[in-house]
Amino acid sequence: MKKILLNENDIPRAWYNVLPDLPAPLPPPLNPGTGKPLTPDLLQPLFPDALIEQEMSPQRWIPIPEDVLNVYRLWRPTPLVRAERFEQALKTPARIYYKNESLSPAGSHKPNTAVPQAYYNMKEGVKRLATETGAGQWGSALAMACCFFGLKCLVYMVKCSFEQKPFRRSLMHLWGADVHPSPSATTQCGRAILAVDPHSPGSLGMAISEAVEVAAQNPDTKYSLGSVLNHVLMHQTVTGLETKKQLEMIGERPDVIVGCVGGGSNFAGLVLPFWPDKAEGRPMRFLAVEPAACPTISRGPYAYDFGDTAKLTPLLKMHTLGHGFVPPAFHSGGLRYHGMAPIVSALASHGAVEAAALRQNVCFEAAQLFARTEGIVPAPETSHALRAVVEEALAAKQSKQERVIVFLFSGHGHFDLNAYDAYLAGQLADDEYPQEKIAKALKDLPAV
Ligand SMILES: *Cc1c(COP(=O)(O)O)cnc(C)c1O
Repeated sequence: MKKILLNENDIPRAWYNVLPDLPAPLPPPLNPGTGKPLTPDLLQPLFPDALIEQEMSPQRWIPIPEDVLNVYRLWRPTPLVRAERFEQALKTPARIYYKNESLSPAGSHKPNTAVPQAYYNMKEGVKRLATETGAGQWGSALAMACCFFGLKCLVYMVKCSFEQKPFRRSLMHLWGADVHPSPSATTQCGRAILAVDPHSPGSLGMAISEAVEVAAQNPDTKYSLGSVLNHVLMHQTVTGLETKKQLEMIGERPDVIVGCVGGGSNFAGLVLPFWPDKAEGRPMRFLAVEPAACPTISRGPYAYDFGDTAKLTPLLKMHTLGHGFVPPAFHSGGLRYHGMAPIVSALASHGAVEAAALRQNVCFEAAQLFARTEGIVPAPETSHALRAVVEEALAAKQSKQERVIVFLFSGHGHFDLNAYDAYLAGQLADDEYPQEKIAKALKDLPAV
């Protein structure tokens, strides 16, 4: 079978919260002022109560509100697709399946959390959401979600992407958002960064600082984050829950589950619903793929750090390259964050998640093979998962093993064609992040 399809009434009715099933309690977020675990009241200026509750909830299943399901129905359930033509091109005995999240209106998995976040804010009377975006996938997903629930949306877009990716900016405008290049002169922390470096290319850490500052100073505005936090990963479990059902329908068991990681949300959404099986001893590998230019799990320590450059956020225990990290301007804007979701970091430190760090040219090569065999043009972020899948498939060929590989196809690359032009022209740099810069950024880790 090529496509494994579900019916609308197969959309999950509850998200899976992994917190009660982790091998050890997740280290709590800390108040940077006191070094003590954060109390919920400190989060109240930034997030609605419902999301703060989800962030710390001990409850395994959280019901999905009917109004959210109604929006999910616009594109969910998504198909699980067997990449047979891709397999044939690789001459592999492995069977490769992808969960196609590029079919959402915004073209990525991000609306899976943007929609509930906008919904809960609307329910609690919030008028506007402020957020950051890298390449624009998150900003556009949130702009669309705000549009559905009558909220205003303010987006700080990393400056180098604002300039490189004009079409996602257009999409955000179409869905009614205000978009500023970050660092900007509209916030105190933006002005402070510009005073030191007027030509700063920006970073997600800086854009987060700007959005958090606006939310903290305006009672009608709250902040929204597209990855990293527990509730965001939980909203993304709709993909893994559907995939589980789809694999059961055809009697397949995954040997390895693969996803690219920026903050960790698409990867976690796919793998977490399989965690209870793995924890019980079913052999299954979880592989997180990151860029060599932003090797958060592979080369960053597991330590408490700020989520943003201006140190406005609580401290999270996570793999980090340091909150001062400014990645080189490579093309996977969605994978340029200095930190990693605390849940993914904890599972990695437990040995349950493996990481691979790949250079961008080999990723684009795999993406081109995918486009030429399966048709869809992958987002540059997704190309990292694809390259790892190629390597798994070739390893299966070498060892003459059947192997079931499942990966999350996180988004399409229709707005990233300038990156493909650069790849085809042989102009993509293949930087690894230099060790001395990592060492320098890590010097500023907060002492706890
Ligand atoms: C944002 C994004 C990512 C990375 O973010 P995660 O939170 O790690 O999932 C990956 N792929 C696409 C297409 C994205 O838009």
